[in-house]
Amino acid sequence: MTNRSSGLNKGTEFKERIPKLQADSVAQGVDAVVVGPGPDLRYLTGYNAHLSERITALVTVSDRAPVVLVPKLEEQGTRSTSLPTLGVSVVTWEETEDPFFALSELLDGADTVAVNDLFPARWLLKAQAALPQVGFVTAGPLVSPMRERKSPEEVEFLREAAEAIDEVHAQVANWLAPGLSERDVALKIQAAILERHSSADFIIVGSGPNSSAPHHDYSDRIMSKGEPVVVDIGGTMPSGYCSDSTRTYFLGEPDPEFARLYAVLQQAQAAAVEAVQPGATCESIDAVARDILTDAGLGEQFLHRTGHGIGLETHEEPYIVAGNDLTLEPGMAFSVEPGFYDGGKWGARIEDIVVCTESGVDPLNRRPHELVVVDC
Ligand code: ZN
Ligand code: ZN
Ligand code: ZN
Repeated sequence: MTNRSSGLNKGTEFKERIPKLQADSVAQGVDAVVVGPGPDLRYLTGYNAHLSERITALVTVSDRAPVVLVPKLEEQGTRSTSLPTLGVSVVTWEETEDPFFALSELLDGADTVAVNDLFPARWLLKAQAALPQVGFVTAGPLVSPMRERKSPEEVEFLREAAEAIDEVHAQVANWLAPGLSERDVALKIQAAILERHSSADFIIVGSGPNSSAPHHDYSDRIMSKGEPVVVDIGGTMPSGYCSDSTRTYFLGEPDPEFARLYAVLQQAQAAAVEAVQPGATCESIDAVARDILTDAGLGEQFLHRTGHGIGLETHEEPYIVAGNDLTLEPGMAFSVEPGFYDGGKWGARIEDIVVCTESGVDPLNRRPHELVVVDC
């Protein structure tokens, strides 16, 4: 990646994020937050920093102006970012300096310091050694509640991502044929994803028995007539926001038993989407899909949670899973992706990204949900 600025509108939304993080930190008894390269940093500042062995980190101490500590050689790259407009000053460290001494000076006076979930262990261990009196905690409880409720602008970025992956699914049936390998199809899908996305993050083409492995990727297996093919694909857009959608295809006339089970799955997925509204819990959405599949004898074959949040990461909070009593709020964006997997025989999944709105649900993926029959 060479583009270090996020492509996001360098507007008002970013201006609110660090002050909110600082206010929430104080409320939670956290004196400072340290955020290394990754989605949290990109969310807070728009800065898509390069992760390397050299430490780069945003340092926000509750009552001071935020600072980003960067290796000297990255300084120039920060000028084209939104950091200056957000009032984040840049502090550099030279190759022969100890950056953890610089970090300890920036954190002077802080007793409790939160670090982001993806902060590298090798940096955290050195920070702990440089600041033996400081208690380090995870910043997840501060940053996740901000990230999981998408702003209207973020919803539009997710909508663009969904449209882009829908365009790929619209072509997949043309690329599936008996005699081709999963890999042959995956390469065409990859090229199509890259037409609008800046990266193709995962490509699952699971044919025949491979359709029963939810996290299969693709293989040299040759596809045959009379088989289902699960295609689950996604990438990251220039905005930084991700796509993720699954459709199930069938080569030739569907097996009647498979078609019957698929109809139940389609009903389960639609019912779970319809149940999305403010005030519903994450686990209640999971239960809607799971109950329908269980009543049809497919409960044991629904091996995974119903969904996951999505934004600057493909998998983030909120998780749509039994045991998560988090209440849905407008702006929460997540997948609804029930499936059934009869080990070694066949499987199917339908996955859309949806957003909880004030009045209900806004499904972002718009491809038809029927089993896609490929003439052959
Ligand atoms: Zn997954
Ligand atoms: Zn998926
Ligand atoms: Zn997913």
